[in-house]
Amino acid sequence: EMPPCDVKPLPHDGPDFDRAMAVRKANLPPGILTFYREPVYINQGYMQYLWDTAGKRYIDLFAGIVTVSVGHCHPKVVAAAEKQLHKLWHTTNIYLHPKIHEYAEHLVSKMPGNLKVVYITNSGSEANDLAILMARMYTGVYDCISLRNGYHGASPYLMGVTALSTWRYNSPTGFGFQNAMNPDPYRGPWGGKHCRDSPAQPGRACDCAEGECQACDMYVDQLEDVMRYSMPKGRVGAFIAEVIQGVGGAVQLPDGYLKKAYEKIRAHGGVCISDEVQTGFGRLGSHYWGFESQDVMPDIVTMAKGMGNGYPMGAVVTTPEIAATLSSALHFNTFGGNPVACAVGSAVLDVIDEEKTQALSANIGTYFIEELQKLRSEFEVVGDVRGKGLMIGVELVKDKESRTPLAAEEVTSIWEDTKNMGVLIGKGGLFGNCLRIKPPMCISKEDVDYSIAAMRIALQKHAGK
Ligand code: PMP
Repeated sequence: EMPPCDVKPLPHDGPDFDRAMAVRKANLPPGILTFYREPVYINQGYMQYLWDTAGKRYIDLFAGIVTVSVGHCHPKVVAAAEKQLHKLWHTTNIYLHPKIHEYAEHLVSKMPGNLKVVYITNSGSEANDLAILMARMYTGVYDCISLRNGYHGASPYLMGVTALSTWRYNSPTGFGFQNAMNPDPYRGPWGGKHCRDSPAQPGRACDCAEGECQACDMYVDQLEDVMRYSMPKGRVGAFIAEVIQGVGGAVQLPDGYLKKAYEKIRAHGGVCISDEVQTGFGRLGSHYWGFESQDVMPDIVTMAKGMGNGYPMGAVVTTPEIAATLSSALHFNTFGGNPVACAVGSAVLDVIDEEKTQALSANIGTYFIEELQKLRSEFEVVGDVRGKGLMIGVELVKDKESRTPLAAEEVTSIWEDTKNMGVLIGKGGLFGNCLRIKPPMCISKEDVDYSIAAMRIALQKHAGK
């Protein structure tokens, strides 16, 4: 039984969907990401739940791609947006409005160190575009490095930064960007045994002496090779990475890697960008920002997704020194810093504090991972369970020994079955075999229990039990 919920499904107020559905489904524009065999038409959302046009309720374990951080239509966030909508919807940054300052100050109060200057954008892609531009202007060096399994956005410029082949098209990619070996503890060439220091991974703990992880050193040497062999005079403009690779399937960089990587990049003249689009705003539970969990201090931080709880906004936060380079040029963004976005963003920051969202993410995340580990010991196809807080990945494989990715059709049937039982999960990774669990951080223990039960049934059916 799904946990009870007082909210009642509302009728959809558009055209008659049910009648028009068949036609629409058959005529979806090409390129639309229809995850499920039958597209799910979402009509309504409240906190961790969604309802489709037929009134069926789902537990939302994907949060609109890790975006609805504090809950769908969270009443406090709705109230903040509504209040601002009545006052002022839009002005450009030719003029200013009080909310932009309030929000920037509020956000900076959550940032450590000298990260004090905020540029507001409308998405994660825009934030990363701008961050790389700033790094290039600041260092005067064009060549940059990202990791092979990273995802940083979809603009033509960012397609070189996003190294995952899944997201590359027939246009020139990689211009000015080199991709370094991915320090993947599960699939990397040196990563299988080392560097996993999580109590939630019994038997998989790192066996290197503390601070002397050999696999980390090998990956960092490879990163340095990229600079030595491929960058003019061995100089680099920027290095960008996610602490846990989201689209790449919740791949956790081994502890210690980023610290060593940042040192090397800085030794070659580059600046370090932490892409916190998925890992920010308390999602990892243990820390407000992902980079804090690795004890590193980036020069530039980019964010989006959870920042607006689904309202489209992103940001670049950097140091006054780096920001000064950009102020010598003219940078313009019509919608960035929109008053409604700023009001929403501030309300989200308040809710995270008031509702102790970060602690919720830590507690429920730990519980969720423990329960998923039980599925791992029960089923041969559950190859790896990883993540931190409510940023969790489950990698499905043919068998634990070979780690061969489970065939796409098999992944899809497990995933369709959980959907039919009312649980929406994300999917990703290079082989499309990673289940991505990143719900709104208000999810309850009962929701986790229901979701695990649904996954267990789907896995039993797959195993023919
Ligand atoms: N960086 C990361 C880590 C992301 O996951 C994404 C989106 N999946 C982006 C950047 C790009 O953000 P957007 O889709 O808002 O442009």
